[in-house]
Amino acid sequence: EPDCIEDRRVARGRERRLHNGERLVHAQGVTKSFHGNQVLKGVDVDVHAGEVVVVIGPSGSGKTTLVRTLNHLEPADGGLIEVNGQLLGSKPGPQGRTVALSDKDISLQRRNVGMVFQRFNLFPHKTVLENVTLAPVQLRQMSGAEAEAFGMELLGKVGMSAHAKKYPHQLSGGQQQRVAIARALAMKPSVMLFDEPTSALDPELVQEVLSVIADLAHEGITMVIVTHEMKLARDVADWVVFMEDGVVGQQGPPESVFGANADPRIKRFVQTVS
Ligand code: ADP
Repeated sequence: EPDCIEDRRVARGRERRLHNGERLVHAQGVTKSFHGNQVLKGVDVDVHAGEVVVVIGPSGSGKTTLVRTLNHLEPADGGLIEVNGQLLGSKPGPQGRTVALSDKDISLQRRNVGMVFQRFNLFPHKTVLENVTLAPVQLRQMSGAEAEAFGMELLGKVGMSAHAKKYPHQLSGGQQQRVAIARALAMKPSVMLFDEPTSALDPELVQEVLSVIADLAHEGITMVIVTHEMKLARDVADWVVFMEDGVVGQQGPPESVFGANADPRIKRFVQTVS
């Protein structure tokens, strides 16, 4: 196995995206408190088209809260979040103010953002294929036949075609998570968010999910991934965001964040999780 990051990239056949170009996510000064406890203290993050942004950092530093605000699962208290150039959760109003969107509009916005959770959250009484086709059909994005064809294509992508008729309880955690990834892709989102996608898995099942994520990176799917898997950050990230106590402690390409001259705090953190 090649031992330097650049060699690995070449081995994987994917050029690193530079942190520029079309901006799909723009978060600026994002704040969020729970019961007076400020968890996000002004976070700035940009995600460009085709880019893989990996978010690392100690437990409790706000990583999960950050990705949940990017999907409006947790409305931010302050700051600005744009997805696809649209202000998330609000729109421009009179006198330069912003006006909150209705729940319906928020759910429309959310369709642009795929989310993969720590605990797969598949619908237990639906088959694998139904899990994948449900949203596109219900939200009238596709006809039943179209959604099934696309669903089977996505299940093929995550190596789950043979299990299309099974129910979630018949699958391993790694298989369920791969279905959850296919389900999120079914809405053709412009960006995919992963919240610690492998942390609930038995160690022997982690790799199959990481491989699927690496394949998606190859395809140029735009992703934000919260993870403790440093290998994923090293191999797949174009841009690494190190969160620390509710702020971005450092961000940069993996070579600089993990390189010999990395910030001592990041080195210490990487030692604790590796
Ligand atoms: P990380 O993902 O980096 O571990 P989190 O975003 O999960 O960090 O959590 C940051 C802090 O916010 C933690 O102290 C956590 O207890 C708190 N927190 C997160 N979600 C909630 C919530 N829904 N209600 C209250 N506190 C929360």
